[in-house]
Amino acid sequence: MRSVCCSAPQLAGLEPYDPKYLPAEAVLSANENPHDVEQEVRHEIMREVKRVALNRYPDPLANDLRDMIAEANGLDRDQVLVGNGGDELLFNLALAWGGPGRTFLNLPPTFSVYDANARLTNTTVANVPRRADFSIDEEAVLARVAEGGIDYLVVTSPNNPTGELASETFVCRLLDATDALVMVDEAYFEFSRQTMRPYLAQHKNLVILRTFSKAFSLAGVRMGYLLGDAEVIREFVKVRQPYSVDAVSQAIARVVYANRAKFEPGIRAIIEERARVVDGLKRIPGVKPYPSDANYVLFRLENAGTVWEMLYGRGVLVRDFSRAPGLEDCLRVSIGSPGENDAFLRALRNAVMGKCDLRIPSA
Ligand code: PMP
Repeated sequence: MRSVCCSAPQLAGLEPYDPKYLPAEAVLSANENPHDVEQEVRHEIMREVKRVALNRYPDPLANDLRDMIAEANGLDRDQVLVGNGGDELLFNLALAWGGPGRTFLNLPPTFSVYDANARLTNTTVANVPRRADFSIDEEAVLARVAEGGIDYLVVTSPNNPTGELASETFVCRLLDATDALVMVDEAYFEFSRQTMRPYLAQHKNLVILRTFSKAFSLAGVRMGYLLGDAEVIREFVKVRQPYSVDAVSQAIARVVYANRAKFEPGIRAIIEERARVVDGLKRIPGVKPYPSDANYVLFRLENAGTVWEMLYGRGVLVRDFSRAPGLEDCLRVSIGSPGENDAFLRALRNAVMGKCDLRIPSA
């Protein structure tokens, strides 16, 4: 058998993305919604899916769904683009605005996919690290864009995994200070209730990323979307895979979007639970939770890696960032159902205070 030549050089040293899924009684590691889509909406989904012609290619741009999203946001169809999860649109961002000789400005610690996509596309990465409290070093970012040479940047608001919002005033200053494309990643905006959408009309270099994976409980379906200037969206259309959003996903997303008001109580419950989890974390000696506007909370404690293992041993899966640069000794917990959140807080208290195991009651 012949050998095979090397893959593209930019792949050397890249680790495949690993969500670190493991089976657990309480899966609180991927910022998913603990409530699945309710039965009534699921029935409507089934009716809509039954009507899908499976032998035909899907509408490449999902225009029906695009129209619904455009109307809800006071925009035109050509200012909206849907993708196979927000992840596909992030990859398209690097394809359309990155590439050899081009530079992406990253604000770590943040969502690791941005940096990976830049590397895959041979885009240079310029980093302006966040401050110790994870707030954006605003003056340093503005100074870096003033130097020139930045082609695109991503401001994540709320930031993943740290949880805080970017200031609206800062994003406006940034949009005025550069002609780089500024993506504001609002994957979690339904939990923060803050959006840069009103600024789209004044800023051609602003593009907003959203997802159905979190507030709308559709992580399993893969549906994300962009809001932006029509000319910017057209550049994204040039690089996208024509049929990346399949007909079944389009049908499911149309029903869910039409029923989006029904997700509001679930969103409110997550916001309330978030306050309870933060409060519970504050009461555990040696645990420092960071404020969060999203559906997860980052917290710092000594020996986080060992504590992660102890939590897992007690049936609770959280995300271990303790070896990630800038996030030493940090773990992130997604807000789950009240029972899961109780199980997490109890398991953490026991792990930290060295008490004996208390199993999670099966819910
Ligand atoms: N942006 C951020 C900040 C995220 O955390 C995620 C999901 N982890 C995404 C985008 C992409 O989400 P999805 O592909 O599920 O739409």
